[in-house]
Amino acid sequence: MRGSMMDQPLLIASLIGYAARYHADTEIVSRTVEGPIHRYTYGGSYRRIAQLAHALQKLGVTPSDRIATLAWNGYRHFELYYAISGLGAVCHTINPRLFPPQIKYIVEHAEDKYIFVDLTFVPLLEAFAAELKSVKGYVVMTDAAHMPATKLPNVLCYENLIAGLPETFAWPVFDEWTASSLCYTSGTTGNPKGVLYTHRSTVLHALAINAADGALGLTARDAVLPVVPLFHVNAWGIPYAAAAAGAKLVFPGPLLDGPNLYDLLEGEKVTITAGVPTVWLGLFSHLEQAGKRLSALKRLISGGSALPLPLIDGLEEKHGVAVCHAWGMTELSPVGTTGNLKAGQENLPAAERHRLKSTQGRTVFGVEMKIVDDDGKTLPQDGKAYGELLVRGPWVTNGYYRDEAANKPAFDRDGWFRTGDVVSIDPDGWVKIVDRSKDLIKSGGEWISSIDLENAAIGHPAVAEAAAIGVPHPKWQERPLLVVVIKKDGKLDRETMLAFLQTKVAKWWLPDDVIFVKELPHTATGKILKTKLREQFKDYALKPA
Ligand code: AMP
Repeated sequence: MRGSMMDQPLLIASLIGYAARYHADTEIVSRTVEGPIHRYTYGGSYRRIAQLAHALQKLGVTPSDRIATLAWNGYRHFELYYAISGLGAVCHTINPRLFPPQIKYIVEHAEDKYIFVDLTFVPLLEAFAAELKSVKGYVVMTDAAHMPATKLPNVLCYENLIAGLPETFAWPVFDEWTASSLCYTSGTTGNPKGVLYTHRSTVLHALAINAADGALGLTARDAVLPVVPLFHVNAWGIPYAAAAAGAKLVFPGPLLDGPNLYDLLEGEKVTITAGVPTVWLGLFSHLEQAGKRLSALKRLISGGSALPLPLIDGLEEKHGVAVCHAWGMTELSPVGTTGNLKAGQENLPAAERHRLKSTQGRTVFGVEMKIVDDDGKTLPQDGKAYGELLVRGPWVTNGYYRDEAANKPAFDRDGWFRTGDVVSIDPDGWVKIVDRSKDLIKSGGEWISSIDLENAAIGHPAVAEAAAIGVPHPKWQERPLLVVVIKKDGKLDRETMLAFLQTKVAKWWLPDDVIFVKELPHTATGKILKTKLREQFKDYALKPA
C-alpha cells in the first residue's frame, strides 16, 4: 500500500524562500573584495536574487545551462547560488586556485555559458578567455565604479545587470532530481572530475547537517562563518543549511589570515565556523601571539585534511571552543562523518576526548559505510580492521559528469562509491583514516600510515608542516621519508626530530631520514600534494641505517 503524503519536490529555492519569509531581518554580512563590509538581510538578499534571476533570463540562460562562478565568499556569490539553481540552471563553482590549464579544461568540459568573476580573478581569465568557445560573456561581480579595464570579451557589470529589475520572481517548480550545481574535484592525478548535485541531494544534505549531531546543527540563534570557500563543495552546504535554519551568515571575502578572521569572528559574534586545518593553524597562532581570546565562538568544524591533536587541545582547553572534526568528499556533498561525542564520552579525561576528536568523526545518518580488503571482501567494523572505505547514500554521487573513464574504477559491483581512503571504523561508528590508499607506505609488506607519522611530527612545537612519503628501499621495498617545514624562528634538526618521534610511533615506523624544506607543494584545496613530493624524491638515496 502506498502512503498518502504530498509529493512536494525538494527544491533549493524553498530554502531561501523560507529564510526570506520568516528570517527576513537576519543579517548576511560580507567582507567585500572592494574593501568595506557589506550588510543586508535575508529579505534584501531574496529581492536581489529575484533581480538576478530576471537578469539571467534576459541573458538567455535556460534550464540545464551551466553558469560558472570564480569568486570568494561574499553576498553576490551567495545570490548566484540561489538565482542560477532556482531557474533550473546549474551553478558551476570553479576553484580559482587551480592551475590555469585546469580551469580552462573545466570550463570547456562543463561547456559553461557565462562566467561570473570577482575582480581578483579577472586577470586569470583574461589569459585564456579568447579560447573558451562555449562562453558567451563574462560578468564582473562589482559595481560600475569598480569596473576594471579588461580584455575579457562581452564583459558586463553585475550591479548594472540587475539594476531596476523586478524584486520578485515566480520560481518554477520542477523535478527534484534536476541538476543544481557542479563542482570539480581538485584531484591529485589526472584531469579534475565533475560532481553534479541535484536539488534533492542538496536539500537532504542541508537538513542532515543541521541535525544537532549532523556537523553544523545550526539554529536561528547562530551566526555562522564559512571559511571553507563557496567554490569548495558548496562551502560544505553552509549557504543552504544557514537559510534552512535562519542563521546569520558571515562571509570572509578574500582575507583568510588569522588576524582578519579573528576580527570578523569577534566583530560579528560568530558562534560557529568551518574550514580546513591550515586556516585554524593560522588563527590559533594569531591567538597565541597576540594573546587574544575568542568570546563568542562556540563550535569550530574542521575537515578536508587531518586535524592535528595539539590544535584540538589548544582550542578546546585554552579557548573553550568545541572542536568538531568532520570527514567528507566532493563526491559526498561533502559530509560523511562528524566528531560529536556520544553519551558518556563527554566525561572522559581531556586527553581521551581529544584523541577521539582527532579521528575523523562518527558516521552520520544518511551515509552508509563499509570497508573492504584488496579482494573486495567486507571487513568488520571493530576499530581494528582497516581497508578501503566505500560509501553510498542519497547525497553521494552515482557517477562523474561526462567521464565514463573515471567512473569505471570509482564504483564497486554493487554501486558503492570507492573513496580511496583507507580507514578503520569502530562499533560506535568512529572512523579513523589510516591514509589515502595511494599514500600508504609499505615497508617489508607491512603498512605504515603517513598520516599518523605526520600527526606525530606536527606535535613538535617547531614543526609548521610535515609530510611523510614512501621512497624506494633495496631491502624493505619502501621506507618513510619525512619532509618538514620548520616554523618561523623555530629550531630543529634531524636527530631531534627522530628522537621526538621515537616517543610517539613504533620503532619500525621511524622515518629513515628527515629533510627540511621551505615549503611543501599543495593542491588547490590546501592538501599536501604527495604525488609531487614522491616525484621530487623518487631517487632519494636513504642513508644506510
Ligand atoms: P575533497 O573532495 O577535495 O574534499 O577531498 C576529499 C578527501 O580529503 C578525502 O577523500 C580525504 O582523503 C581527505 N579528507 C577530508 N576530510 C578529512 C579529514 N577530516 N581528515 C583527513 N582527511 C580528510
